[in-house]
Amino acid sequence: MYWNKEVECMPEEKLRELQLERLKQVVKRAYEKVPFYRKKFDEAGLKPEDIRTLEDIKYIPFTSKADMREAYPFGLFAAPLEEIVEVHTSSGTTGKPVVAGYTRKDIELWGELIARCLTMIGVTKHDIVQIAYGYGLFTGGLGFHYGAQKIGATVVPASAGNTRRQIELMRDFGTTVIACTPSYSLYLAEYAKEEVGIDPATLKLRVGSFGAEMWTEEMRKEIEKRLGLKAFNVYGLTEIIGPGVAHECEAQAGLHVWEDHFLIEIIDPETGETLPDGEEGELVITSLTRDGMPMLRFRTRDITRIIRKKCDCGRTMARIERIKGRTDDMIKVRGVMLFPYQIEQAILEVQGVEPHYQIVLTRPHYLDEIEVLVEMSKETFSDEVREIEELRKKLEKRIEAAVGIRVKVTLVEPKSLPRSEGKAKRIIDKRNLK
Ligand SMILES: [Zn+2]
Repeated sequence: MYWNKEVECMPEEKLRELQLERLKQVVKRAYEKVPFYRKKFDEAGLKPEDIRTLEDIKYIPFTSKADMREAYPFGLFAAPLEEIVEVHTSSGTTGKPVVAGYTRKDIELWGELIARCLTMIGVTKHDIVQIAYGYGLFTGGLGFHYGAQKIGATVVPASAGNTRRQIELMRDFGTTVIACTPSYSLYLAEYAKEEVGIDPATLKLRVGSFGAEMWTEEMRKEIEKRLGLKAFNVYGLTEIIGPGVAHECEAQAGLHVWEDHFLIEIIDPETGETLPDGEEGELVITSLTRDGMPMLRFRTRDITRIIRKKCDCGRTMARIERIKGRTDDMIKVRGVMLFPYQIEQAILEVQGVEPHYQIVLTRPHYLDEIEVLVEMSKETFSDEVREIEELRKKLEKRIEAAVGIRVKVTLVEPKSLPRSEGKAKRIIDKRNLK
């Protein structure tokens, strides 16, 4: 199903023409309205009219998260405040938050993009959509709200948290679609079964749109099994518009990027050099049609690759592979680089444990150590000590094979690791606390 078939299946040539036309417009707008961009262009000796082809984008300087913090709060807005009808911010856990401003047109666009995403996975006006992303400054709640309402679905604005009520709403209202973080979906399944006494499979849930954190294919299988639904991956970020930049179609083989509104590139995160399609690197996004706050070549720090191959669903928009992690989630331990997803994958391949884990980094004797805490399943927990030790060693071997260095695995009691209502905290870095 398509929300906007003409656009979603636009011939590629036409799509590139549209992108170029929009790129020229947004560059001009940013240069004229945002002193930050004007300064960057002037320093690079670049004028908006120098951008003549899509390839010329490489001459435009990058915009980073640090630039955004410096511009706090409204320094990157390209529209006067009387035209800004809504603001959102990032969590700001690692410094000043990033502020995004939306004009009425931007809010309309956001709704359109989420409507495309949800329609793509079969959501219609006959669905009951429970939004368990936080409502408020976080973009998850309201973004999905606008889109689901646009489709005409019945929106249940549950917001994050209050897990018992979430389950009761699902049961009593007959919720068919859930939107939340993947880690919260697992918690919902666990809570339903153990605290409310409801088998999640008896709920009417059909599909879920999960995002805002890294999750693996193995985690998808777990979620689908535990909640009895089909789980899809959504991508987005506050700096660009929020969720809805890209979403998986029913093929579950990469996320279609709405290229009529976003221009994507992959760069080498070390050198900043543009990489050819298909190579893995950092995703860079230019928002082509945002009036409130256009972004030129924003470095997302998300690691992925671009897939240009034609998709079975008929959409011509390129796909990105599921995000492997953020460049700043990359763990450097004894000269080895690794991503949490590698550890997640290895854990979920082993029977007898739950998909709840935490990675603890320490430096006891000038050398980094990794300890991975993994929850045992209830059945494992009642096993003999010897069997539990065997399982522990098996996990250590499996993870070592995946990441290339020795790690220490500690099996912990069921339900002893913290559950998250939003983004799970996977890495605890104690190395700098000494
Ligand atoms: Zn597709």
